[in-house]
Amino acid sequence: NKQVLAKDYITGNPRESDMYLTTTTTKLKLPAEEEEAAVLVKNLYLSCDPYMRGVKNPEPGRPQFFAPNAPIVGYGVGKVVDSRHPEFKAGDLVWGITSWEEYSVIKRTESLFKIHHTDVPLSYYTGILGMPGLTAYVGLYEICKPKAGEKVFISSAFGAVGQLVGQLAKLMGCYVVGSAGSDDKVEILKNKLGFDEAFNYKSHRDLDAALKRYFPQGIDIYFENVGGKMLDAVLLNMRDHGRIAVCGMISQYDLHESEAVRNLMQLVLKRIRMEGFTVLENYHLYSSFLDTVLPYIRLGKIAYVEHIVQGLDNGPAALVDLFTGLNVGKTLLVVAPH
Ligand code: NDP
Repeated sequence: NKQVLAKDYITGNPRESDMYLTTTTTKLKLPAEEEEAAVLVKNLYLSCDPYMRGVKNPEPGRPQFFAPNAPIVGYGVGKVVDSRHPEFKAGDLVWGITSWEEYSVIKRTESLFKIHHTDVPLSYYTGILGMPGLTAYVGLYEICKPKAGEKVFISSAFGAVGQLVGQLAKLMGCYVVGSAGSDDKVEILKNKLGFDEAFNYKSHRDLDAALKRYFPQGIDIYFENVGGKMLDAVLLNMRDHGRIAVCGMISQYDLHESEAVRNLMQLVLKRIRMEGFTVLENYHLYSSFLDTVLPYIRLGKIAYVEHIVQGLDNGPAALVDLFTGLNVGKTLLVVAPH
């Protein structure tokens, strides 16, 4: 069983040297049924996500993604090989929290979902039809509640979450602009994903001026993925009664202390609602999310760009690239062909 393990807890963004590969020869076995209703899964695709950099002591109930000499934990898609759980049987396709290895014994079956729709790429369950997709849906529909004609801005718009947020907002009749870290990503946002506008935040020193160019009348909805200077510039450009869904702040994860945000007073002056959320407490919305997004994918109304990396051996580099923006699309590892 080939595995990617963490050397230790990490601080800051991951480096390749924080991880190592090993192969174990002991045969994986499920615990006895009376002990645990676990499932043995062959991992097919593994997801690379920003949360995987982990923290040393996660809040109770959250998985420890990086722990010394343990396989890295993350979302993935797999096939059940053996099961002691009444709801799963050998041959079932599943997605959920697994580990970076060829085969995993999954004990936390509360975060394992059976895959019922296989007419779409199976790898989508690491992204648009999995955790990042549900995140986009919750942040946009539940927190921002867009109306046709509203002006929407998304940072890290070409990310796993951002791609879907923008396309859903377009389908609701909004004007949608995204920022991303390369000209190539900007081109894809505009030409393939249907964003009205997009810009490369790395080539704009003055983010406030860039936003004023794309939003002369201001922003109604900001889907926040990066934080820091971008948030500060956005606050200056929000309209009265605007909404900000705080999904993540990737520019802040590597810092010991978050950068000071200077323009928070705008929340008061413009009566803005800024609300954080996590996908973890929203899995009850998964079936309504699928009912919304699957038809759009089948009809070709929503596209999704994946950054596909072959093999566990390339996993550490792929995870590092997520934090430098070298990935182009939702990053996933192919562990075994389906
Ligand atoms: P992304 O794909 O958006 O994250 C990777 C991208 O972030 C990179 O490709 C890079 O793109 C961009 N990036 C990296 N460093 C920086 C930086 N310093 N400043 C600006 N951009 C940067 O991840 P996801 O789509 O998976 O997630 C989006 C956000 O939502 C993340 O912050 C994530 O942590 C968070 N999240 C929150 C969840 C929740 O439950 N609240 C669930 C899932 C994700 P570029 O080339 O554009 O710089």
